[in-house]
Amino acid sequence: MDITGKLLLFCGPSGSGKTTLVHHLLKIHPRLKFSVSATTRPMRETEKNGVDYHFLSVDEFKKKIEANEFVEWEEVYKDRFYGTLKSEIEKIWMNNGIAVFDVDVEGGLKMKKIFGDRLLSVFVMPPSVDELHNRLRTRNSETAASFEARIAKSEHELTYAFRFDQVIKNDQLEDALADAERIMEKFLYNS
Ligand code: ADP
Ligand code: 5GP
Repeated sequence: MDITGKLLLFCGPSGSGKTTLVHHLLKIHPRLKFSVSATTRPMRETEKNGVDYHFLSVDEFKKKIEANEFVEWEEVYKDRFYGTLKSEIEKIWMNNGIAVFDVDVEGGLKMKKIFGDRLLSVFVMPPSVDELHNRLRTRNSETAASFEARIAKSEHELTYAFRFDQVIKNDQLEDALADAERIMEKFLYNS
């Protein structure tokens, strides 16, 4: 079956488990390719430029907005811009890949509007707000200000879940990984 041109998108509050689920799917399905977004936030110790994100200055990011290089972009947190690059999707499609996205809720809805049924939008739901905060704290990736900004946004983001094609509850990780695999298979092969 020809699955070329399909797109798989993950959304959810920071700490809900998007990266964990996406990395798992990328590992098990050779045709899935991660669309590396651009961002102006600082790089974490665990990240690599060009792999997790294209890390840019605010000026560089704004030049790309002016040059119309983004499919969508958002100022997700104050002065922290994130955007999906047209060039990433083109590169993935040139190589017969299935593009996988990890974007915020607003960006996710924009992408769904643009790509329609070719794109499956998946919302990753934490078991509770307290557990979401625990996981974010345990990940230990944020400064105090960035942690607070993420917490402040999370409850509002959770209200978007019903607008997505699928919701994965990420309580027990094994179950969530299995759900993600099942949802991916069904979307790609209708099986
Ligand atoms: P996001 O990409 O949505 O910000 P991550 O995938 O980085 O979230 O997950 C946030 C943290 O929670 C990470 O440290 C990750 O290892 C951990 N985590 C993810 N899923 C679970 C789970 N089901 N149970 C416990 N910890 C989890
Ligand atoms: P983080 O800084 O934790 O990697 O990501 C913060 C938020 O930005 C997450 O909700 C993530 O999904 C979102 N994000 C990452 N890349 C993009 C993008 O290209 N566009 C949009 N709109 N949001 C993004």
